Amino acid sequence: MNTHDVIVIGAGVTGLTAAWRLAEAGQEVVVLEARDRVGGRLRTDVTDQAGAPASFEIGGQWVSPDQDALISLLAELGLPTYPRHRDGDSLYVGRDRAARRFAEDLPVSPSTRAAIAELTKKLDELAAAMDPARPWELADARHLDSISLRTWLEEQCDDAEARDNIALYLGPAMLTKPAHAFSALQAVQMAASAGSFSNLLDADVILDRRVVGGLQSVPIELARRLGDRVRLGQDVTHVAWTEEGVVVHVGDDAYAARRLVVAVPPTVVRRIRFTPELPAEQRIAREHQSFGLVVKVQAMYPTPFWRADGLDGTAFGPYELVHEAYDNTPEGESRGVLVGFVSDVNADAVGALDAEERRERILDALATYFGEQARHPIAYVESDWQHQELTGGAYGTSFDLGGLTRWGHVLRQPVGPIEFGSSDVAGLGFQHVDGAVRVGTEIAAGLGARATA
Ligand code: FAD
Repeated sequence: MNTHDVIVIGAGVTGLTAAWRLAEAGQEVVVLEARDRVGGRLRTDVTDQAGAPASFEIGGQWVSPDQDALISLLAELGLPTYPRHRDGDSLYVGRDRAARRFAEDLPVSPSTRAAIAELTKKLDELAAAMDPARPWELADARHLDSISLRTWLEEQCDDAEARDNIALYLGPAMLTKPAHAFSALQAVQMAASAGSFSNLLDADVILDRRVVGGLQSVPIELARRLGDRVRLGQDVTHVAWTEEGVVVHVGDDAYAARRLVVAVPPTVVRRIRFTPELPAEQRIAREHQSFGLVVKVQAMYPTPFWRADGLDGTAFGPYELVHEAYDNTPEGESRGVLVGFVSDVNADAVGALDAEERRERILDALATYFGEQARHPIAYVESDWQHQELTGGAYGTSFDLGGLTRWGHVLRQPVGPIEFGSSDVAGLGFQHVDGAVRVGTEIAAGLGARATA
């Protein structure tokens, strides 16, 4: 049995970043990945459904300007980016189900607009007062963690459409859970982790740029640099540990190391048996975490027909099956691609349909925004991560009511020689690739510091 300095479980961005930084520092590292590919929740696929090869982002894809950990990693790896198409008017569908164009101000009544601005200000103030890595330290943390975002919004504002719009940005669009299912504190953490709530509202910030060739290029390039230190098809089922080190079991094979990094989502840690068992608090904390659900849908058309209509492809509506949609045409592609998202309870509803009916319902929903042409794509790709055992949902995990103040501090605590991390436990960049880079970098720095102490 080979003995390493550090074993990393999981070749997502968290695990690969940690492994690469440790390898650079001269440590003997091995990365064990259960899938037959690297990248975890990042996957860029090529299909030829449309007659010629077309590339689709099945998982994460956008980079925002405040995500400086990811941006500097992209620069270091030599991976160029390009901006999302954004010329033209956007569309909003409100309670009357009519699609309205707008350029600057949301086409809602002046009082609803004022109420949205007021709620935005309150959330920005709360987010500014919070360290997203320690949300439980916010002055009013216990109270905010004991009520849902929905309840908090009802306490603050009596304009239903304003509340539903704010809930949309934090619920379906971010945590991918309904606003009654997570706490107001968890919502503020989401905003604080992105710099402010205003940033989450602004598609030009949060969905700013894409990576040429796809965001999976990041883990692919990290893995290329790590070479044969990355082993695919290695589903870790058992970890035996003492204060001195670990033995990691994969089928009949075993790997030994002084340290272990478990770089998988908190909910997926449960698939691994630990001997001795992890402290009860570690298990209980993760039992109160769950993935949100979202189906990401991409439809390709012979041309980006909405552009000819003066539309930028951005559309949203708090009452719509596809609650948000964007122009997702890759740079240099003459065919047009729309991406739409079906989240939380709507994801449950479409999940119950057969494939044909689901496609029809989703294309109908795109047609509410973009008209009849949206019903006739030349390629159609759905990605739904809830059925993948090694992930279990999208985009990331979050706590149920009260969990953040009760157990938030547990998820990053090491146990003996074992560190835990993924984008789901990030402060800045929470649930995003930027958070994965940060967590991977922090874990490596901690291990490097301890190794040389
Ligand atoms: P993961 O990517 O989940 O990696 C964990 C790895 O561990 C996986 O490869 C898994 O196979 C492996 N593993 C698990 N258990 C074991 C085991 N027992 N043994 C061995 N290996 C194991 N983020 C953005 O920044 N921008 C976006 O636009 C964006 N959009 C998204 C859209 C979708 C549909 C999804 C799903 C995610 C999106 N995200 C986005 C989130 C982003 O993809 C994730 O936050 C990030 O990729 C998580 O990286 P990670 O390394 O922490 O975890």
